[in-house]
Amino acid sequence: TEAGIQADTIVAISTPPGRGGIGVIRLSGGLSRVIAEGLVRLARPLEAGRARFGYVIDPATQETLDEVVVTFFVAPHSYTSEDVVEIAMHGSPVLLNYALERAMESGARLAEPGEFTERAFLSGRLDLTQAEAVRDLIDASTLHQARVAAQQMGGALSRKIAPVKERLIALIAGLEAGVDFAEDDIDTMPTTEISSRLQEVEAPLRELERCFGYGRLIHDGMRLAIVGRPNVGKSSLFNRLVERDRAIVTATPGTTRDLVTERVSIEGVPLELIDTAGLRETTDEAETIGITKSREAMAEADLVLIVVDGASQLHPEDIKTISAIVDRPLVVAANKLDLGVADLSLQEQALVVRTSAVTGEGIEDLRRAILRTATKGASSQETALVTNLRQRQAVTEALVSLQRAREATLAALPHEVLLVDLYEALGGLDRLTGATTADDILHRIFSSFCIGK
Ligand code: GDP
Ligand code: ZN
Repeated sequence: TEAGIQADTIVAISTPPGRGGIGVIRLSGGLSRVIAEGLVRLARPLEAGRARFGYVIDPATQETLDEVVVTFFVAPHSYTSEDVVEIAMHGSPVLLNYALERAMESGARLAEPGEFTERAFLSGRLDLTQAEAVRDLIDASTLHQARVAAQQMGGALSRKIAPVKERLIALIAGLEAGVDFAEDDIDTMPTTEISSRLQEVEAPLRELERCFGYGRLIHDGMRLAIVGRPNVGKSSLFNRLVERDRAIVTATPGTTRDLVTERVSIEGVPLELIDTAGLRETTDEAETIGITKSREAMAEADLVLIVVDGASQLHPEDIKTISAIVDRPLVVAANKLDLGVADLSLQEQALVVRTSAVTGEGIEDLRRAILRTATKGASSQETALVTNLRQRQAVTEALVSLQRAREATLAALPHEVLLVDLYEALGGLDRLTGATTADDILHRIFSSFCIGK
């Protein structure tokens, strides 16, 4: 019940573990204010939306333990929609744990990961896509990821879904009316009308489904496998892209036997670079393992960077590798530009960039080529609305049901049959925003948050 939730007051240290200038204790629930007032001796009484200065006093000795700032948010104008108090203390784990324990002695319960956001969701202040965006914002590793998350947190996806859902409900209502009054000679909706209305629901959802590719790229990043014959400069280019001496560069062919990976970000798009052992027919056992791994890396990569020696003619093996990659985007780095520029006569669709890992020439062009290839087909960041698999699944499920509804319409099946599909589609949209989502799924989503959020 609502009263039950209010009484259940949760507390957590909302700042990351370890020492810092400031550490924040956050309380949410009906007892928040009373607990804070018991813990902090305040100069002036708490007031909604105001920060108040105060002291944390050890009740046994009356000694001051910390000087703090307390901010009070009164229900429903708070993050969780409940009474919320944030106590900004000095960022000492000892002090923060002391305050946490005192709050728990006064009746608060330790918050589970994501429980503050879960309460915001349960109170209806955030829908599920917005709650997920809170987590994505915190987890963002590039500013671009943060921007996309902030947009979703502001309800961009929900706003896109709302009118689609309204249209679907209107269609359902129209058909229900026809079904209910069929015997009373009220005209049922004509098939052409149903088809065009279905189309109006489907089109924006198809668009959302398409944008998922880019959303996923922003959210998870792309895997880029660097492949090529031994000694062409794969590890050197990897290091240039990473700008650190992460992989071992050596003049002996075939020494990068294991896969070396590193995360980088190119204009905010996260990429996982994978340096592989050289692709080469060999009998040496360790090297064979390396080559197997590099084939695996290539198979799992979203994008492949093939490095060739640009100072000499293309090797037959280079041509074999390039023509073997048919199903994913490809960039060719013609390396060793400082040693010469051979005519590669590549009539491939692939982007060819001249580089020198030694002088650094062409590295910026290579970065741009990678980014361009990675984001090909994806339009602007505004379209990155569907960012995780759960959201994509909900959209896809709705579309599958709509497709069935379309077939039922064409087959002139009774509207009762059509309605079953339409209700299913509505269910998909509701799962997307969390209007109807099973408790265990909700729990799994919120438990992936950090504590105190
Ligand atoms: P990998 O086997 O393909 O990973 O090649 P490495 O990165 O280990 O480089 C093999 C050798 O080629 C090393 O001696 C590098 O210094 C050298 N090398 C790599 N890139 C260049 C380049 O652009 N120009 C020149 N001159 N030498 C390079
Ligand atoms: Zn290497």
